[in-house]
Amino acid sequence: MPASKAVASTANRAGWPGVGPQLAGRLAKLDIHGPQDLLLHLPLRYEDETHCAAIAELNPGVPQQIEGVVTDCEIRIRGRRQLVAQVQDATGSLTVRLLHFYPQQQKQLAVGQRVRLFGEARGGMFGFEMIHPRIRTVGEGEALPTALTPVYPTTAGLAQSALRKLIARALDTHRLDELLPDALRRPLRLMPFGEAVRLLHQPPTDINADALVAHAHPAWRRIKFEELLVQQLSLRKAHAQRRARTAPPLRGTGQLTEALLAALPFALTGAQQRADGEIAADLAQPYPMQRLLQGDVGSGKTIVAALAMLRAVEAGWQAALMAPTEILAEQHYLKLSAWLEPMGQAVEWISGSLSKKVRAAAIERLASGQSMLAVGTHALIEDPVALPRLGLAVVDEQHRFGVRQRLALREKGSAGSPHMLMMSATPIPRTLAMSYYADLDVSVLDELPPGRTPILTKLVSDARRDEVLGRVREACAEGRQAYWVCPLVEESETLDLQTAIDTHASLSEQLPELKVGLVHGRLKADEKRATMAAFASGELHLLVATTVIEVGVDVPNASLMIIEHAERFGLAQLHQLRGRVGRGTAESVCILLFGNALSETARARLKVIFEHTDGFMIAREDLRIRGPGEFVGARQSGVPLLRYADLENDGDLVEQARDLAEALLREQPALAEAVMQRWVAGRESLLRA
Ligand code: ADP
Ligand code: MG
Repeated sequence: MPASKAVASTANRAGWPGVGPQLAGRLAKLDIHGPQDLLLHLPLRYEDETHCAAIAELNPGVPQQIEGVVTDCEIRIRGRRQLVAQVQDATGSLTVRLLHFYPQQQKQLAVGQRVRLFGEARGGMFGFEMIHPRIRTVGEGEALPTALTPVYPTTAGLAQSALRKLIARALDTHRLDELLPDALRRPLRLMPFGEAVRLLHQPPTDINADALVAHAHPAWRRIKFEELLVQQLSLRKAHAQRRARTAPPLRGTGQLTEALLAALPFALTGAQQRADGEIAADLAQPYPMQRLLQGDVGSGKTIVAALAMLRAVEAGWQAALMAPTEILAEQHYLKLSAWLEPMGQAVEWISGSLSKKVRAAAIERLASGQSMLAVGTHALIEDPVALPRLGLAVVDEQHRFGVRQRLALREKGSAGSPHMLMMSATPIPRTLAMSYYADLDVSVLDELPPGRTPILTKLVSDARRDEVLGRVREACAEGRQAYWVCPLVEESETLDLQTAIDTHASLSEQLPELKVGLVHGRLKADEKRATMAAFASGELHLLVATTVIEVGVDVPNASLMIIEHAERFGLAQLHQLRGRVGRGTAESVCILLFGNALSETARARLKVIFEHTDGFMIAREDLRIRGPGEFVGARQSGVPLLRYADLENDGDLVEQARDLAEALLREQPALAEAVMQRWVAGRESLLRA
């Protein structure tokens, strides 16, 4: 933790009287570490307690407030112990029912007490009834609040009312400085910060409450802008910090890369050449590259990675490639060793499934620098593996790894930071990429290698399974091969497995003339490998699989894919799965079998995958259906989360924030730091992507 931040957060705590350790612990769960954080803990919605309704005129089902006197209160034991009271005003009487209660509530509802109740009234057998209303005892003639009552996100053990009091106190005692100079703020038509914060916590009654809740009010605009600004500033700061680290400049001789290119049976696509050039330029720098190579399934990312790895070797450094699954890692290993070993470059295979002896020998060759290239699963980042001259680390399907795993790979090197190349087939729309990955340079493979035939997608009801079997028979009779992907069973790996085993059994029986194989996640690595090899060599006609084949599997002769219960898969997953076919020259077909009783979202998803083959379009639609948070798996990636702004809807603000961030850092760095401190003091863990 940088010293300046440590000081800021301690100061924060020290200046926070009246908050004991228990309360502080609960507040910390909400990421509130001081009064400043309280001020930025903004309401989810509001309740209108500024007037009272007459009991006789209550609208059922709408949250409303009434005021009256308790005329009766008793504990009833009917099935379950409950507290039932009557509250009366000039127009009528209302029943209050508490299904569980504390002595404190019993006191509030003692006969003769004047109370204000806030809740939804329901028509009961004997007039209106409120179950668990909010109860406030008041004196006669006590003034009603003049602002809407904020409702805050809270956590177990921290009452809404307690949080409200803390925030109200912070508003009274804490300054809400305007940090953005007028000259910058005016052209953006931003409301002053203090005014915006105060308004959101204590909105006047005549405000448009819908605009508030929809985050469309100018006060929200100001807050969202500043949040986005802070995100941009933090990411730029991370960028500057990266440039301050050192990495070995990998200026290759071109000898190995040229030899590989000459040996390939194909020429690089324009997109591959461009990405390769961008990577080569980064590698030559004395600070670490951090680049994402993004390309749809089948766009040819592997060869680009191989070229980068060779550049490291040419410069006398090691390179390692890590992939998330055993199957994928092994495919990379086979491909890279086929490409590179003829050139005298040994590739070491590191996986959890190797025998101790074989593994130890590989590790030794890497440690001594005898071998310069390693491919493996997360076994690569485990302890005995040392890559003393690691110059480049490549992570395939980077979103499958956590931040910690990526950092662990980076730390395998012993000389400064290695260059990092991340690869992903999950396309991220521009606005997202721009703001989540300000410190990640992106190369895009937006062109597929030539000679690919488009995949025809069909939606077929489960009821027509027999016809589908016929198609499998036909394709295999013509010498093609097929995948049969088994459905996911919600949250049950065991059931998943059973489904795959059952499907394999029934398909083997229904298609006796075909050789049917089975792969799933529980197979031992060598069994998995043997099955995949048999399928790749054409020995097996049909491969029944769970989603273990989702990433990276490359068998060009497979031209038919059936996905059972496609409605249970996510869009990105369907797209990845479908990308396993269409890799050869034969016309490929992907059949999505769906069950009956499709939900609204399932229907929407299937429609998208049916209509689009472009990964970027699919990702956009996915984003629309799911919302951005879940989409990127932001928590996982360690990227600062946005609490208030929304990248899809606030695209204009994102751009303005980005421009201002650049200007501030250039012209007023102290100010930039102050704005960041206001938002991220005590929260720097989120920024360590
Ligand atoms: P992905 O981007 O999905 O990881 P791969 O790197 O596995 O894609 O490449 C998919 C297939 O395309 C592989 O069989 C690969 O050898 C082949 N390929 C890659 N680049 C080209 C190219 N420029 N021309 C023809 N085939 C290529
Ligand atoms: Mg790949």
